Order: sequence, then C-alpha cells, then structure tokens
Amino acid sequence: MIKKPYLLSPGPTPVPPEVCQVASLPLIHHRGPEFSAIFREVTEGLKYIFQTELDVLTLTSSGSGAMEAAVVNILDPGDKALVLNAGKFGDRWGKICRAYAVDVQEIKVPWGAEIAKEDLAEQLAAHPDARAVFCTLSETSTGTVYDIEGFARVTASTDALLVVDGISGLGAMPCPMDAWGVDVLISGSQKSFMTPPGLAFIAFSPEAWRHVESSRLPRFYFDALAARKGLQKQTSAWTPAISLIRQLHKALEIMQNIGLEGLFSHHRVMAEATRAGIHALGLELLSENPGNILTAVKTPAGLDGNRLVKIMQEMYKVHIAGAQDPHKGKFFRIGHLGFTGGFDIITALTALEMTLGDLGYAHKRGDSIRAAQAIIKENWQ
Ligand SMILES: *Cc1c(COP(=O)(O)O)cnc(C)c1O
Repeated sequence: MIKKPYLLSPGPTPVPPEVCQVASLPLIHHRGPEFSAIFREVTEGLKYIFQTELDVLTLTSSGSGAMEAAVVNILDPGDKALVLNAGKFGDRWGKICRAYAVDVQEIKVPWGAEIAKEDLAEQLAAHPDARAVFCTLSETSTGTVYDIEGFARVTASTDALLVVDGISGLGAMPCPMDAWGVDVLISGSQKSFMTPPGLAFIAFSPEAWRHVESSRLPRFYFDALAARKGLQKQTSAWTPAISLIRQLHKALEIMQNIGLEGLFSHHRVMAEATRAGIHALGLELLSENPGNILTAVKTPAGLDGNRLVKIMQEMYKVHIAGAQDPHKGKFFRIGHLGFTGGFDIITALTALEMTLGDLGYAHKRGDSIRAAQAIIKENWQ
C-alpha cells in the first residue's frame, strides 16, 4: 500500500499548496521596492491577526527567538520577573530569563492545570517590584489555554508589563492585543500561520517601547530598535528569510480571507470533533481547560504512550506528538491548528483506533469516527 503521510503535530503544521508553491519563486532582493511592497502587506496582515494598531516586527528565527527578544528588550540585569509556568513553554520563559541574570519568581502549577488571575494578583502583591509577567496563551505542551484577558486586568493596575507567548494560539483563538492591553505579544510562523518554521513576530505596547528604549540587557541581533528602524523603511534590519516572508504573505492572504471569526470558529469545530472522538473511546483529556489548538490525551492505564505515538508515526504515518520531558509516555497530543480540516481529524482518529487495537485496548471500532463526523457534518457550511 502507498502509505501517505499526514502531519497532525501542534507545530510545525501543514502548509497549504499555494503557500508551498511561493517558496519556489526566484529570489528578489530585500532592499528593493518589490520586497518592500510585500513586507508592508505582511506587516498589515500581522497587525490584523494581532488585533493591534502597533508595529509588528518580523524576525528571522524560530518562535523562541521572539521569546528571547521580549526578555532582552524590556529588562535590565537583575530585574525581577514573574513567570507563569504550567508546562514546557512557560518553563522556557524562566530559562531565558535566567540566562540573562533576571531574578525569576515562578508561579508553577502541574502540567494541564489552570492559573487563576487571583493567583497572579496575589503574587504581584507579594512582588510589587516585578517589572514583567511572562505567560502563555496556549501552552502547547499540554493543550491548555490561559486567561490572558484576566491577567491583563491584573497587570494593568501594577508597574509590571504583561508579556504573552502567543506562538501556538494567535490566529486560532482570540487574543486582541490592544483591546486586552497586552504589552508584548509574540508568535511564530509554523503554528496557526500555516507557514514553514523560521519567522517570529513581536509587538510592543507604547509602555513596553519605553522599556525598550532604556533597557540595559545585552542584545544585538534581536534589538527591537534596529528592527523598528528597518520597518520604517519597509524592510528588516538584517537579511530576512525572503522566501519565507513571501510564503507568509500568501498565508496571511488566506487567513484574512477566512477572517478572524472564521478562523476561531474553524478551530473550535476541529477541537470539538477531536474531543468528541477521544471521549467516545473512553479516553481522558490531560487539560483542565483545553483549548482549540491541540488536544492532549492521557495514555490509557497499562499502555505505553511512547509506543502508541511511534506506531502512529512510523506504521500509519500519522504524525501526532508525544508528551515532552518529564512526562514522556504519559499523554499524547493531536494538533489541529492552522491548515487542518475535518477529514484530517477523521484520519487521525482512524489511525488512533487502529493503533489502540494493535496495543490491545478494548474499544468499539468506529465510535470515535461517528462522534467526530457528527460534529463536522453539523458545522459543515
Ligand atoms: C512552538 C512553541 C514555542 C517554541 O517555538 P520554536 O519555534 O520551536 O522556537 C514556544 N512557545 C509555544 C507556546 C509554542 O507552541
């Protein structure tokens, strides 16, 4: 049999054919009018997705580069920062801060658990000298989404800036930067932006820009002032990933044609169909507050989660993701963000049922498909 591969990881995500095609165009120069016109439209498209009137800077790096840019552009050595750590990516905020000698205070909860805005308020009251709060919109290691609107209400009455990692969530769920009062918002190309990896985005509020202008942490490549200067001339500070920016240009056109509401409702249907399928198999979700970006599922008792993911990936060629350290094997993650359709969900659930069968897990074949199909059909329009 031809074993056709399917990508259902929570990043990188599938890239539409029209976006793939653009990568093969001959190169243009990044200091010419053709590139400037594209870059201007890309920046406008990003502002639409960020829901902001502020500049959105495009960096040539993976998403973590924008995380580092956020830290080094707003803080001074020895500053105190509050990090909300509920998984791999919240943890990464702490690691980056510590690498730059920032004094890190963490609110750490088990993977998949919620963080109440009241807990943040309490910690900020205990640490009134905290200069920034680092948090995550959609914690991709667990599938949990966080109350950014609530967090922003808390930080609004303090001196701390609110920095949000929207790398997997932005473009798939609401996070209106200006309306909620987020100070620094970042994202990356390879999640809901349906573009290959290699670009990261960052926007600063007027108050955050004041920090950028005076902050003293060392920086060069990720200097936001250099990026802003480039943007004023419709180009980037350094040689950008020109082909990726052209791909993003096409992807943003697709996203804007669908519209934010359309993107959000699409992701809701994908997530509801996946969750219905999972529940129909008697399986449990990891997260206390699962988002619509990906679904993390606990490995059923007695099964080896690493083996499950390996069979899905290697035997059935359906690439879902396992759990990351230190929870390897305990759960698995089905990504349904970006360019993922209802029939991709059906494919993932079919491969999951076949894999569960191989591992001896008792279930009625087809139950998850029926449950997911009902939701996809109901919402087909
Ligand atoms: C993917 C992801 C990152 C890391 O991005 P890279 O592009 O791998 O550097 C950070 N945070 C979140 C929430 C992510 O989903």
